[in-house]
Amino acid sequence: MNQRILVVGAGIVGVAIADRLQASGCSVTIFEADLPGGGATAAAMGHLVVLDDSPMQMAFTARGVALWRQENLPKGCEREVCGTLWVAADEEEVEEARRKAERYSGLGLACEVLTAGQLWEAEPALRPGLAGGLRVAGDQVLYPMGAARFLLKRALERGATLCREKVQALVPGGVRTEPGLVQADAVILAAGLGTTTLLPELPIQPRKGHLAITGRVPGLVHHQLVELGYLKSAHGRATTSVAFNVQPRATGQLLIGSSREFAGLDGSPNRELLGRMLRKAVSFLPTLERVPVLRVWTGFRPCGPGNLPVIGPWPGRPGLFVAAGHEGLGITTALVTAELMAHHLLGTPAFLDPASFLPEPAHG
Ligand SMILES: Cc1cc2nc3c(=O)[nH]c(=O)nc-3n(C[C@H](O)[C@H](O)[C@H](O)COP(=O)(O)OP(=O)(O)OC[C@H]3O[C@@H](n4cnc5c(N)ncnc54)[C@H](O)[C@@H]3O)c2cc1C
Repeated sequence: MNQRILVVGAGIVGVAIADRLQASGCSVTIFEADLPGGGATAAAMGHLVVLDDSPMQMAFTARGVALWRQENLPKGCEREVCGTLWVAADEEEVEEARRKAERYSGLGLACEVLTAGQLWEAEPALRPGLAGGLRVAGDQVLYPMGAARFLLKRALERGATLCREKVQALVPGGVRTEPGLVQADAVILAAGLGTTTLLPELPIQPRKGHLAITGRVPGLVHHQLVELGYLKSAHGRATTSVAFNVQPRATGQLLIGSSREFAGLDGSPNRELLGRMLRKAVSFLPTLERVPVLRVWTGFRPCGPGNLPVIGPWPGRPGLFVAAGHEGLGITTALVTAELMAHHLLGTPAFLDPASFLPEPAHG
């Protein structure tokens, strides 16, 4: 059946869903209040990474990375399969690298534990004295805005429509915009931080992050470098944290992250936190001290109530579906989110247990 679908939000999640559903024969209209891809997507680092906080998060991110790998992305997406190198500062972190390696291998992902010497050979710019690391070969990086533009363009070429209108409210069987009501078979709410305004029952909090980009230093760094200590800092939801997280860009620049804080919607740089983040990066990569930082920006990760995003039908509102709350993994998991949404709407295979992503009230 040719279903009429309305997607609210043209961030990476919304455009991935629109593209997937349009390719499957639906008639999709995307509503975007601002610049397509201009929300959290534009602020992101574009690290496509398998994380292993929980078995489901690992399966979700691994499927996300695998689906990106299948995409033949144009040059503008700046995709590099550089892998992630998790850096272990001490023996305790080497132990964690070994445990992670078991989990990654268990899922069939290529990875290797590195000794201190192998770490130095792989990344000679790292400071001496580090204890080792873990290389996960299949992780990738890309330019998030380029990827969002690519998916949107493909969706439009397949026949989807982009409507540059703000959705003012969800109504039974459709949405209300300034020009009037639009009806459809299903509405998919993929509005990032805008989700809560339209559906107050789903609280999505802004989790602020800083990134900095340097001048060109081609060849200084070869992998996405992340400290294993990142796992400790990124886990806590209430705390403010910084972690060493550096990405080599196709331009030869380095993207330096990252920080996490709950600070409302104030996008101005937090100088103290930014200073800590940059000092941390220099502590791992001493050469950075002599590399100019060209620009710094902040963005807001859409942080939902659970550890996984909410993907699926909203209980008690027939025809309403939600895809929101991807926090720091929305670029990685955009395509797998679209796959799960297609499962709910069209009955296509999900590859993961869709129940894990259902809004809380829908469980059981
Ligand atoms: C500093 C930082 C670093 C990050 N690094 C990574 C990373 O390395 N890897 C990774 O996987 N993820 C990363 N992320 C997370 C990632 O950016 C997000 O999870 C992802 O972009 C969320 O996409 P989205 O489409 O849900 O939201 P958004 O990109 O915010 O899109 C939502 C869209 O909805 C529109 N909208 C809102 N309300 C309405 C309305 N009423 N009507 C019409 N349109 C509306 C908005 O204008 C916006 O364009 C990072 C995020 C930050 C902030």
